[in-house]
Amino acid sequence: MRYFCTKSDSSCSSRGLSRRNALSLAGATAAMLGFPYVISRESRAEPAWVDGNPFSLGVAAGDTSPDGFVLWTRLAPNPLSQDPNAPGGLTSGDLLIDFEIATDSSLRNLVRRGQATAERQYAHSVHVEIKGLQPGRPYWYRFLLGGASSRIGRATTAPSPGTALDQFSVGFASCSNYEHGYFSAYRHLADENPDLVLFLGDYIYEGIDHSPSNVRKHSDDVEASTLSTYRNRYAQYRLDPDLQRLHAEVPVLITWDDHEVQNDYANQWSQTFDDPKAFLKRRAAAYQAFYEHMPLRPSLSRPDGANMRIYDRFTFGTLAQISMIDGRQYRSREACYGPPNRGGGHLVTDAGCRERLEENRSMIGAAQEQWLYRGLATSKTRWNIIAQDVLMAQLRQEAADHTAWYWTDNWNGYPANRKRLMQHIKDSGVSNPIVLSGDIHSFWANDLKIDFDDQRSPAVATELVGTSISSRGVPYETFAKFLPYNPHVHFFESRVRGYVTIELGRRRATSRFRAIADVRDPNSSVSTLRTFVIEDGVPGPQSH
Ligand code: FE
Ligand code: CA
Repeated sequence: MRYFCTKSDSSCSSRGLSRRNALSLAGATAAMLGFPYVISRESRAEPAWVDGNPFSLGVAAGDTSPDGFVLWTRLAPNPLSQDPNAPGGLTSGDLLIDFEIATDSSLRNLVRRGQATAERQYAHSVHVEIKGLQPGRPYWYRFLLGGASSRIGRATTAPSPGTALDQFSVGFASCSNYEHGYFSAYRHLADENPDLVLFLGDYIYEGIDHSPSNVRKHSDDVEASTLSTYRNRYAQYRLDPDLQRLHAEVPVLITWDDHEVQNDYANQWSQTFDDPKAFLKRRAAAYQAFYEHMPLRPSLSRPDGANMRIYDRFTFGTLAQISMIDGRQYRSREACYGPPNRGGGHLVTDAGCRERLEENRSMIGAAQEQWLYRGLATSKTRWNIIAQDVLMAQLRQEAADHTAWYWTDNWNGYPANRKRLMQHIKDSGVSNPIVLSGDIHSFWANDLKIDFDDQRSPAVATELVGTSISSRGVPYETFAKFLPYNPHVHFFESRVRGYVTIELGRRRATSRFRAIADVRDPNSSVSTLRTFVIEDGVPGPQSH
């Protein structure tokens, strides 16, 4: 059973409604005073919005549950305003806005109307937690303010617990660098209309590079490091029509990687050796801006200083459990960290860095490890997806003199944690574990093992790694040379950009590596590069 509507169903399409009403004559005065709208003189009708399109950043839905979801928008009539006191061009205090939810795409059959607060503290973002809806069906929604209407978005509820589901489709994406390319991959992912899209990190890039091959620029041309510069980065990305459409049409689950804060940071440790106290202030700003732009539940994810919980678990009938993992906030420090050049990820050998192998090192922190292990052990679903940010499989980068080097920033920097997870998966008999990863800007299909150095050690889980939406790939020739030393790798390709889709069924999961033709072409086409099947009960990807 596919419980969401299909592409051929015309009621599935969503389209923005009419823009705001005509300007009020009093608008100029009101805008100068910092009020974004004015009360109409003629009547007690709704105040009229006078100051640009407040819904320029679109809408989004996420955190799907059987009776609801989170709906998101952020008011930003001047989305790239660089005035830190007027994020999105707004200087007003909290604003009340209206929302509507319906069972049809034209919003004729309304089932919910309500109000939500766009809080000034959070850049006038809105996160509405909706409960009490019917399970396993689509809904359509919009936000309204002062005569202005957002585009219509589509959200879905998960099937009620225990529902026998035949099919569920997921797309996953990572690493969308606005400067490196256009977001055709997001457009094609929206066209495929999966039940759910997972974002695995590097949703924005905080940095700037002035590479001659860049196709466009980050608007402020500075490295994001403050609340206002992170906000502007998210706003610029959300103005992209392909990304904005994907969010309006498909509900999402989201985790982050490093570039939402700083390249290769680990917990409180910066790659540039900043004082951890100062770096945590930067992290707090970055996390807050992430919260402000994502459909996350306030009850779980409202930021608390430099801390913000985003790891979470979602269940879809008897078919799938999805654990969204936070691989950055709780990490042990990078192995063998220290100036001048061992800040973020770096290559180390076993002889040169014993710390990497220490038992107590963790990629996700003790509390999240326990939470993950408990969730996996008690899961009753056929497929168990662990969605997270970085490559999990061992990658032995062998040099000409046969020395093995390991990269400290992905799971190769935390092998004890990887082994604990694999051992737990085996010991608890977790059904069909599939790890999804990003960060490395290349496609991979891997066996995951308890002991990667023992060729006889069987696969206990499957890893699928999506390439980047647009970020430049790792050098193909260099990495291809490592493959003979990594026989658990079934496939590697870094020369194309794209995403991955997975159709979960009762007997198998079919995964397609989707590649766009040209990241420099805003109208690029897409095609399937490779297909991998995971048979029920058989860990590991099988080429198809
Ligand atoms: Fe990346
Ligand atoms: Ca990354």
